[in-house]
Amino acid sequence: AARAGYRGRFAPSPTGPLHFGSLLAAVASYADARAHAGAWLVRMEDLDRAREVPGAADGILRTLQAFGFVWDEPVLFQRHRSDAYQSALDRLAARGLTYPCGCSRAEIARLGLPGREGPIYPGTCRTAGLPPGRLPRTVRLRAPAPPIAFVDRIQGAQEQSIAEAVGDFVLRRADGIHAYQLAVVVDDAWQGITQVVRGADLLLSTPRQILLQRFLDLLQPDYAHVPLAVDTEGRKLSKSLAAAPVDPSDPLPALRRAWELLGQKALPLESSRRGCPIEHFWSQASARWRIERVPASASIAIGDA
Ligand code: GLU
Repeated sequence: AARAGYRGRFAPSPTGPLHFGSLLAAVASYADARAHAGAWLVRMEDLDRAREVPGAADGILRTLQAFGFVWDEPVLFQRHRSDAYQSALDRLAARGLTYPCGCSRAEIARLGLPGREGPIYPGTCRTAGLPPGRLPRTVRLRAPAPPIAFVDRIQGAQEQSIAEAVGDFVLRRADGIHAYQLAVVVDDAWQGITQVVRGADLLLSTPRQILLQRFLDLLQPDYAHVPLAVDTEGRKLSKSLAAAPVDPSDPLPALRRAWELLGQKALPLESSRRGCPIEHFWSQASARWRIERVPASASIAIGDA
């Protein structure tokens, strides 16, 4: 199928205020979209209402605005999209690619081999069906063994056997909520996203998303995974002191810091130029963005500012 022009997106989860780690991904995604004269969208990943912090979605959008991000279409909220996720799940089920699973977390923890994201489901309900008298708790995808390969625009060639790395993963959780992996694929396609630029914490999720795109006959976007900001002890920024929310009243220092950490060449210093300094930052940045300069590492250490 013919591919439309560049369409990128930023997809925050409203679990708290925008912190520097998310800003890094947002800056990369926005600069890449603007450098390609592309469209850039924001999707609020508020699927998991229990984890949502009241007011966080509004706060994130206001902060993005203060940082000069401009989205080209109305924000898509995942909480309105469960019918679309369910119909994708029904299509997968109709193709025999899913099965209901009645195993509890405790059972899986006892029987599953350790995997990167917790125990790998041993496949009990795939091979034996639901045990008699058991109600389905989750819906799982039958994970194929052949590796899924793709070339990340920042991290280079990637390959993962989903069966080995994560096993039969959940598409609908026990609480009835559709899993992130399914929702993100359905929404990236629905929004016509051609370029995904996001944090490297999702690099290992990408093969699952590509697999779902194949099973659902959806176009596969290109992927670019930006190194994760970690503190000097290697802890994910969101778990450290440096996870302090970015300050919407003083965006330029954080933008410049993000720019530098993304390996980009210094921008000409703000002179006594007239007009909005943020717009000026973004016009300079869009003209100078080179994704090849972003470090191809899973993380970059930053000290406390
Ligand atoms: N909502 C996810 C997060 O905040 C990002 C999802 C994505 O970019 O695919 O970590």
